[in-house]
Amino acid sequence: MAKITIQNLCKQYKNGEVQALKDISLECRDGGFFCLLGPAGAGKTTTIKLLAGIEAADSGRILLDDVDITDQMPMHRDLAVAFETYALYPQRTVRQNLAFPLQSPLRKNEWTPETMEQRVVEIANLLGIGELLDRLPRQLSGGQRQRVALGRALVRKPKAYLLDEPIAHLDAKLRHRMRGELKRIQMELGITTIYTTPDQLEALSLADTMAVINNGRIEQSGTPAEIYRRPANVFVARFVGDPPMNILTTHLVGDELALNSLMRLKLSEPFRRALSGYPPEKPVLLGIRPKDMRLTPPDAPQAKLHAESGHIQVLGETSVVTLSSDGLEIRLKLATQQAPRRGERVGVDFSIEDCHLFDAHSQNRIATEND
Ligand code: ADP
Ligand code: MG
Repeated sequence: MAKITIQNLCKQYKNGEVQALKDISLECRDGGFFCLLGPAGAGKTTTIKLLAGIEAADSGRILLDDVDITDQMPMHRDLAVAFETYALYPQRTVRQNLAFPLQSPLRKNEWTPETMEQRVVEIANLLGIGELLDRLPRQLSGGQRQRVALGRALVRKPKAYLLDEPIAHLDAKLRHRMRGELKRIQMELGITTIYTTPDQLEALSLADTMAVINNGRIEQSGTPAEIYRRPANVFVARFVGDPPMNILTTHLVGDELALNSLMRLKLSEPFRRALSGYPPEKPVLLGIRPKDMRLTPPDAPQAKLHAESGHIQVLGETSVVTLSSDGLEIRLKLATQQAPRRGERVGVDFSIEDCHLFDAHSQNRIATEND
């Protein structure tokens, strides 16, 4: 078990044409489950490669339990890695692929052939590939290969697991089950885990701490609850949560936020204080999550906005309704039986307490005393 610390890590490719990591700092506590969440190309795999020692950092440090391992050889780091791209040995069977990490010269005294076979079978059954032990990688589907790659990491009990999108290629149902299994295994063994994913729901449900990475930079780190409740900027606000948070461009008029002639919203005391001194000509971005908005009859006194109902996406018990008003699009998430008809005029109500404010230029959160 180990604490992992990353300090000011930078990595360029193609002589600086690509800046994959721009001054990344992170900390994963001993025994923690840390998720690195970000879109494709954000720098997730690069981070895992540097941690594993497969590629060298340009600058910055990596510490394992406060010991600098930045220049240590991969085999001496005692970390188990699973990549999204599998990297299985094509000429070896699933059994041999799974057993391989146990056969390292560094660990040859830890296992007998019997305990090794036991462990391989155990991990294969856990991942639902127990029937496939005698097959070669090319005789497997993508999802099965990915489970072998994951199994090859989990078969050992290293200082930490580095899992790079380890279940991205499984079908939705299996992915859901594996998510539960992974969390259970990690909690049982208490092995420090760094896990990357582009799926915000996966990160929120697995992580005890997480970071959102975008374009080689950490946008925010914290617990899933902190990031969801107090997104540090517009990118995080829209990337975490589904459907994405609505962002309305408003202006400060006295103690109200105005959206053209569509809306006048009276500010709460904490927001009023947070905006004191904010230049009135600079827009204020008002963020509201789709689940925090309610429909009202169009003539209801509490309706803060009026709009026309457009596309309705039914997701079983809930639906996502797109409303439009004078070029503005807003999305609401509500119980399917409350969904309006397409084309219906509706009112929209929400509470100022559920709103988030962002600076229109920096896109950063405008913090209040409640934050
Ligand atoms: P992610 O895993 O989040 O999708 P990566 O870490 O793979 O992102 O990539 C980060 C950025 O670095 C991307 O712009 C990618 O194209 C670039 N990149 C990654 N590896 C290389 C490489 N070997 N050569 C050039 N560019 C690379
Ligand atoms: Mg990747």
